[in-house]
Amino acid sequence: MEREKSKERYKKVDLSKSSSIHIGPLADVYMIDSYAYPEDAYLIGFLNNILVGPDHPPLMRLSKTFDFIRLEDGRLRIGAATPGGKIVSFCKRHDIAHFEFMAHLPGTLGGMLQMNAGLKSYEVFEYLLDIRTRDRSVKKADIDYGYRRTDIDEVVFEASFRVEEGFDLSKIEMFKQMRSNQPRDPSAGSCFKNPPGDYAGRLIEAVGLKGHRIGDMQFSDVHSNFLVNLGKGSFEDAMVIIKLAEKRVLEQTGISLEREVIILDRRYF
Ligand SMILES: Cc1cc2nc3c(=O)[nH]c(=O)nc-3n(C[C@H](O)[C@H](O)[C@H](O)COP(=O)(O)OP(=O)(O)OC[C@H]3O[C@@H](n4cnc5c(N)ncnc54)[C@H](O)[C@@H]3O)c2cc1C
Repeated sequence: MEREKSKERYKKVDLSKSSSIHIGPLADVYMIDSYAYPEDAYLIGFLNNILVGPDHPPLMRLSKTFDFIRLEDGRLRIGAATPGGKIVSFCKRHDIAHFEFMAHLPGTLGGMLQMNAGLKSYEVFEYLLDIRTRDRSVKKADIDYGYRRTDIDEVVFEASFRVEEGFDLSKIEMFKQMRSNQPRDPSAGSCFKNPPGDYAGRLIEAVGLKGHRIGDMQFSDVHSNFLVNLGKGSFEDAMVIIKLAEKRVLEQTGISLEREVIILDRRYF
């Protein structure tokens, strides 16, 4: 009976369809609908920043229970499974400022918080007050965060933000322009983080890998730091080309590229 019950919590997800890079096997994903979740499973959001291999760990994902937005006590409370686009629509309707950058940022609030996602200097942590995890509420001041990184290592269920008036429609256009140099082919966003004082895309181009293709995986000729899937790209091809870039950039420039895309396969932990 107990086994039957827990079976219902798993959902078959075709990761090749639901990940932004269109790579991944069919997987049983545990759907979290309360503050309880399996300790050994890896949490996924909308898979815009993850490359899942065939030998991935067990997976879990927040259910719709955590897809909500509420204005309460002058704060904005948002469930971590809420997509960015929905947050922007809510802010537009209620004339709330500072969330416009999410209009063109794919993913859930949880995924954005984990990496302090953003566009240039506009980041999700800017107006954050606190996050809610299973056992506690954590104030922003107690989280270590910086450019596209945080020390969040547990499931975030929701977060609260400061509310200021003034949704700015012109910013939506500005953010759209900022993204106009990004390719439209399936990708997981930026493949590598920008090293201090430089750009990962510039380094990939400098070592001759802009437009380089292995199978159907390519460092885009539109923006070199986007590893795009031109059709039937595989996990193995993606790993070969990622490691090639890391090796060449290190050999030719002395710089160790740090991956922004998360590789989820036990062979690469
Ligand atoms: C075309 C494209 C363009 C992009 N451009 C940008 C950009 O300009 N700037 C930028 O910052 N990012 C960009 N990204 C990356 C992506 O938008 C962000 O990483 C986003 O935050 C991912 O959200 P997700 O729900 O898809 O998370 P996933 O990719 O599923 O997960 C990413 C990480 O977040 C963790 N996570 C997910 N949910 C939670 C939760 N509830 N609690 C704790 N941890 C959680 C996961 O464990 C994982 O470590 C881009 C991606 C694509 C595909």
